[in-house]
Amino acid sequence: MADPRDPDCLFCKIVDGAVPATVVRETERTLAFRDIHPQAPTHVLVVPKAHYPNAATLAAADPEVAAALLTEAAEVAVDERIAESGYRLIFNTGQGAGQTVFHAHVHVLGGEPFTEGLV
Ligand code: 5GP
Ligand code: ZN
Repeated sequence: MADPRDPDCLFCKIVDGAVPATVVRETERTLAFRDIHPQAPTHVLVVPKAHYPNAATLAAADPEVAAALLTEAAEVAVDERIAESGYRLIFNTGQGAGQTVFHAHVHVLGGEPFTEGLV
């Protein structure tokens, strides 16, 4: 079991309430809050409350919570009314892929048409 919190981690501080965030959903083991620099009309981050550096380490250590991130992302999409128009889930993993906060999180992006993509 990983350390539930890393005292130097921004998202651990958000989970603890030490750093404010606009929370949109919460479960026993996950938290969803709005990204501070939204890249789309809806841009929400879903994180495990326990600290894991990225999605891969989370999935290896706790597959149930890894799956819960996807379930919660889908619920966010329904709540934000983007489930039908479509949305994108992104897990940046590693600095080279643009990860800047090393606490596992999935970006939920939607509310505008995606005309292009990397894949
Ligand atoms: P990454 O680049 O690691 O995949 O995503 C980190 C995300 O966290 C970025 O989209 C960034 O805008 C967001 N972020 C950084 N600092 C804060 C903060 O203090 N509060 C919130 N709500 N989001 C943040
Ligand atoms: Zn953390």
